[in-house]
Amino acid sequence: MEEGKFCQSCAMPLTEDIKGTNKDGSISDDYCKFCYKNGEFQEDFTMEEMIEFCIPLTVANSDMDEQSVTIMLNKVMPQLKRWKK
Ligand SMILES: [Zn+2]
Repeated sequence: MEEGKFCQSCAMPLTEDIKGTNKDGSISDDYCKFCYKNGEFQEDFTMEEMIEFCIPLTVANSDMDEQSVTIMLNKVMPQLKRWKK
């Protein structure tokens, strides 16, 4: 697994088994399968909605509390390809 790779939509660590798929069926190096399938985003989220959605999941999967996760996601999300302006 390549280090420092994150889904460019939800910031989840991007491992081989959760990579999404492009329109032509090839594997996406940018997005996870929960966000991106067959070249389309699964959820029509705004960045704010994505952060709201990710907070409880990240809290459940890490030892950070809700406040730290909120701060972290608000910092990380705007850097991601999907949300970068
Ligand atoms: Zn994702």
